[in-house]
Amino acid sequence: MKKLSNTTKTLIALVLGGIFGIFLSVLPENKFVQTYLLDGILKLAGTGFLNAIKLIVVPLVFVSIVYATASLDDLKKVGRIGGKTFIFYMLTTALAIILALSIGGILKPGIGVDLAAIKANEIATTANATSVNFVDTLLNMIPTNIFAAFSEGNTLGIIFFALLLGLSITAVGEKAQPLLTVFESANEVLLKLVQMIMHFAPYGIFALLATTFANFGFTALMPLMKYVLTVLLGLALQLLVVYMGMLLFIGKLRPSIFLKKFAPIFNVCLSTSSSSAALPLALEHSEASFGVSKKVSSFTLPLGATINMDGTAIMQGISVMFIAQIYGIHLGLNDYLMVILSAVLASIGTAGVPGVGMIMLTMVLASVNLPLEGIALIMGVDRIIDMFRTAVNVAGDNVCTLLIAKNENEFDETVYNRMDNSDF
Ligand code: ASP
Repeated sequence: MKKLSNTTKTLIALVLGGIFGIFLSVLPENKFVQTYLLDGILKLAGTGFLNAIKLIVVPLVFVSIVYATASLDDLKKVGRIGGKTFIFYMLTTALAIILALSIGGILKPGIGVDLAAIKANEIATTANATSVNFVDTLLNMIPTNIFAAFSEGNTLGIIFFALLLGLSITAVGEKAQPLLTVFESANEVLLKLVQMIMHFAPYGIFALLATTFANFGFTALMPLMKYVLTVLLGLALQLLVVYMGMLLFIGKLRPSIFLKKFAPIFNVCLSTSSSSAALPLALEHSEASFGVSKKVSSFTLPLGATINMDGTAIMQGISVMFIAQIYGIHLGLNDYLMVILSAVLASIGTAGVPGVGMIMLTMVLASVNLPLEGIALIMGVDRIIDMFRTAVNVAGDNVCTLLIAKNENEFDETVYNRMDNSDF
């Protein structure tokens, strides 16, 4: 039998977990099910998986941000193009997160869901904690003791330190090379670790969904579907309205051509859920069918695959709203600013491989003290979202590349407009 890919296995686990959970929910009260399944093997697999994800957050955030910042040295080498690209990437990510928070606020996917009763204690603690003011929160980002920040999981503090360390490595240059190599290698190792944890995803997801549905029966279905549809709507708006609007109004380029030529890359994103995996094809298409010169694309596309994750930001914004609504936690203006800031920073630290966006979500939630347990609810359906958000991540890199190339006169419009390429 052909070996199933991890994506296929995870999708199968998702459906089976839901069905199994609903089956458990209709069974009459049963001590065996409660003790050995729900509080036994399912808890072990589900909570074990979530614990493993939480375990990797702090080291991953730290190492990936130091490494990404130190590698931004390339920005200097490419001068003006580098600066423009960086600003463009950060602005589109901020726009994406604002769009997501607005959609989450308007559609309210988590309102009317009564999954919160069991978490009353957490709400009490978190609701108090969110009322600190913005200045204090910013001050909190400058930890006085980095080891305390690590042990408390103060991710914004860790990011701040990581950014400073990365910039210092760049500033020192030659002599800091060995340290940069250490971070490069640590980054590789941690990504391998994420991959190993993700191999366990089908079992973890089966257990998490089965537990949710066993506890809440069919009532869990609606909120989860609402969540998925809201995120998909956000992603569609980002792609079709924000990006296509930019192509049309800023670049004066026809969006329909972009969409047609982007289709093969889109498919790779769907099947791999990885910006990095889609990079070789994106690089090839950028020159051959979008008409962008290598000078621009060879810099902007790899950088985008590392630091520009607008689709991931959309998922994170809507997740924040969804979880806050479910737990009945009110978010104020300071909290929204905090979410925007932390999601833009998280985007820099998110590697272009499957599942990392969800890991980074813990950091965004922690920045406004939302309960991390909320992740257990949405983790189960994350694989579907990962496929589409990756496609939006990569589309964002390509649109930015086109606009920068056009602006820099590194673009051949006849190639862009030509529709007779044999691969289409
Ligand atoms: N899978 C995404 C990507 O490669 C990252 C994420 O998990 O959001 O772009």
